[in-house]
This record gives sequence, structure tokens and C-alpha cells, in this order.
Amino acid sequence: MKDCNCSYPCDKKGICCMCIKYHRERDELPACYFPEDAEKTYDRSIRYFLKIRGL
Ligand code: SF4
Repeated sequence: MKDCNCSYPCDKKGICCMCIKYHRERDELPACYFPEDAEKTYDRSIRYFLKIRGL
């Protein structure tokens, strides 16, 4: 939990295997891939991740 930056109320918080599985099935990444301001948008898409990284 100390490494989890997710601000969304979620029952998978701190259970990283469940968190990754959930987002992977949706072509998304978990919150910890995103900096604080981007994390708060709750857009976990790979497209958004690439955009904020300038890729
Ligand atoms: S990143 Fe997604 S699955 Fe993981 S704790 Fe946050 S909302 Fe839940």
C-alpha cells in the first residue's frame, strides 16, 4: 500500500496482481504508471500513458 498512488476508491488497492489483471484486460495500465496529476483523471488507457510521456 505504501507504493500505491491510486486515489480511486477501489477494492483492489494494494492487491497489485488483481489491479494489473483488471487494467490489462481493458488495455490499460494501473495508477502507479501515472504521475499524480495524470492519475487523478482516472484515464488509465495506454493511449493516455503514451501521450503524457510524449511518445
Ligand atoms: S489502479 Fe485501478 S484497479 Fe488499481 S487500485 Fe486503482 S482503480 Fe483499483
